[in-house]
Amino acid sequence: EKKVVLITGCSSGIGLSLAVRLASDPDKTYKVYATMRNLAKKERLLGCVKDLHKDTLDILQMDVTNHQSILEARDRVVEKRVDILVCNAGVGLIGPLEAQGLDTMRQILEVNLLGTIQTIQAFLPDMKARCKGHILVTGSIGGLHGLPFNEVYCASKFAIEGACESLAIILQHFNIHMSLIECGPVNTDFLDNQEKAELGDASLGQVDASTLSLYGQYLHHCTTMFQNAAQDTEDIVKVFLGAIQASRPSFRYYTSGAMPPLVRLKTSFPEGCRFIRAISQLIFPTESSHLDGSRRSPLGPL
Ligand code: NAD
Repeated sequence: EKKVVLITGCSSGIGLSLAVRLASDPDKTYKVYATMRNLAKKERLLGCVKDLHKDTLDILQMDVTNHQSILEARDRVVEKRVDILVCNAGVGLIGPLEAQGLDTMRQILEVNLLGTIQTIQAFLPDMKARCKGHILVTGSIGGLHGLPFNEVYCASKFAIEGACESLAIILQHFNIHMSLIECGPVNTDFLDNQEKAELGDASLGQVDASTLSLYGQYLHHCTTMFQNAAQDTEDIVKVFLGAIQASRPSFRYYTSGAMPPLVRLKTSFPEGCRFIRAISQLIFPTESSHLDGSRRSPLGPL
């Protein structure tokens, strides 16, 4: 019997790669329901699987912010069960906090947080009734430590950590596994798809010059980091596969192989300031030299 997998956000990136990999499994172990908000975008996925795997792949419409669309997708699963649920849909948001509009912030929380939660809610009763299942969530390093100019995105990803960790406590009583796949930068459309304030945008008109200068440095850091350190979706898919195939899956997987240094620094020094100084020095090296060490004035040694 095939393992039934349902994945959200499959029109691009990690979701697409994972759907392709599982649907192309040489042993045909999986029946994949690749879901996406906009079915008009299914060509890219179809192009990756050709016609080879008709019996292992189905594409369904599902907008994680729309309760009805989640239920309709669930009802179209012919096996009437989902063994492996992958909550992957998500959007980024970067820019100075004071320039973020309420509607945009709401939308990010709506997709990343409530979208993930209401997807899980829809499949949970059946998994509980069968005492079987594995829920995997695409997590982010931005859910484990703060990132400048990512306040709302990080808030959404931190919130997912809290929701999943809380739920995992209950799920172990139902033989349901929960795994967060914590990703650093990954080469996907994520940066292009995210809500982003560009320098020069009218929305930044009221933002002070110092913040704009820091924001410019952050954007530069981001570009460099994605060029130098981003993983490919295949690397991420391998980690997902390891979790899916494990007999006793872990709660957290780090796609880089180990807990990233900044997360370790944060956990090792719970007073918090070391982490904040370290990440500031990393991203704003010139600006941060005068913040080094103690609480010296940003205007210079007093
Ligand atoms: P991506 O933009 O290619 O994929 C995100 C997918 O989510 C898209 O296909 C998009 O259409 C879909 N989506 C957005 N809103 C949706 C909605 N309302 N309903 C259903 N689908 C919706 O980027 P990605 O990198 O593949 O992102 C996948 C996940 O990985 C996200 O949760 C993201 O936060 C997380 N992540 C990405 C990175 C990175 O650097 N790329 C790093 C850490 C975490």
